[in-house]
Amino acid sequence: MKIATLNRGKETKYLNHYPLVDEADIYNNDHLKEGDLFYIMNGQEQYIATAYVGRQHKGLGWILSYDQNETINTSFFEKRFEIALQERDYYYHIEGTNAFRLFNAEGDGVGGLTIDNYDGHLLIQWYSKGIYKFRYNVIEAIQKVFPFKSIFEKMRFKDSEYTGGHVLGETPEFPIVIEENFTFYNVDLDDGLMTGIFLDQKEVRKKLRDHFAKDKHILNLFSYTGAFSVVAAKNATTTTSVDLANRSRSLTEENFGLNGIDPKSQYIYVMDTFDFYNYAARHGKVYDTIVIDPPSFARNKKKTFSVQKNYDDLINGALNILAPNGSLLLCTNSSAFSLKAFKNVIKTTLNEADVAYDIEEVMGLPKDFKTHPHYKPSKYLKAVFINIKH
Ligand code: SAH
Repeated sequence: MKIATLNRGKETKYLNHYPLVDEADIYNNDHLKEGDLFYIMNGQEQYIATAYVGRQHKGLGWILSYDQNETINTSFFEKRFEIALQERDYYYHIEGTNAFRLFNAEGDGVGGLTIDNYDGHLLIQWYSKGIYKFRYNVIEAIQKVFPFKSIFEKMRFKDSEYTGGHVLGETPEFPIVIEENFTFYNVDLDDGLMTGIFLDQKEVRKKLRDHFAKDKHILNLFSYTGAFSVVAAKNATTTTSVDLANRSRSLTEENFGLNGIDPKSQYIYVMDTFDFYNYAARHGKVYDTIVIDPPSFARNKKKTFSVQKNYDDLINGALNILAPNGSLLLCTNSSAFSLKAFKNVIKTTLNEADVAYDIEEVMGLPKDFKTHPHYKPSKYLKAVFINIKH
């Protein structure tokens, strides 16, 4: 077994079960290659943990075990998967939802690996070359533990030409239809990096439907397949979806159709968000609830956009076309953008715009996206509902 010795003073962090191995904490890591297992030792050559090398932008790799006698093999993954499955028992037994995360990386004990369940069709996501080296063990363990109709995979690391595809079981015809809180969505597990729906927003969607949509005009920016629009349309007067990508129009229309909503009764714009702000303001359009759920970084012909730097522009644009006493749903999934910093941007922007407001609700990840208690970035999702008073 390879050994990595911690630099002086770094021991406590790992004894306290911090799950990510930081390159800077290791005395020498030249001998550590992707997929290698290694023991983390202190300066006195005492064992602290077993880890694997899987370089992500976050660090060198992830801790797998605190037991020197535990071998990292199929049964190791089986044990972790069994616990994860028990913890998702709730989702297998509720009505109206058949898509959820089964295994959430470091939150469930293996950083760099997630498994989602889309009505029995499983999606494995590999976040590093290193974790992919355990593919055989992982897939063998999945077959032993999780019920499934089919298994698909996606490579979330860069140096792979193969981006993913079918692994085992049925070969369903995509899109398949999944259900979440009694709303239906199309899903394709074999088309690029995204699947059609972001499962981490399920509770936020429900909140929007139940508390911010009734008899309202809803604007959904960065709408992608229209998930927020479709769920809101169940109670709203109208929805308007805005996304830059051409494909968003038909994907959104199909999701409306699945739910018995005539797509022609809703508004869909294939447009840049900032162009839409200008267009809407020029035409005197106003909305009661505006949903902003942008990617962390976006580029269009005119400029690059980063949530950390430009969220204030998004808020200001929305304020221009918000009805009196309207609401905002502001989201970010950037782990680098902390809740504290996000709330600060919200506060500063609204104060500078001289509007009074109440924060109605601050939401994060649902419990199937289990997080690690000692690793803050795993709580990456922030969704803030705000009522503006004017
Ligand atoms: N809010 C969505 C997910 C957003 S994914 C949901 O709930 O499902 C990010 C989306 O932003 C993509 O569909 C992308 O096409 C869109 N996008 C990126 N830059 C944009 C821009 N400048 N204006 C509008 N949409 C943009």
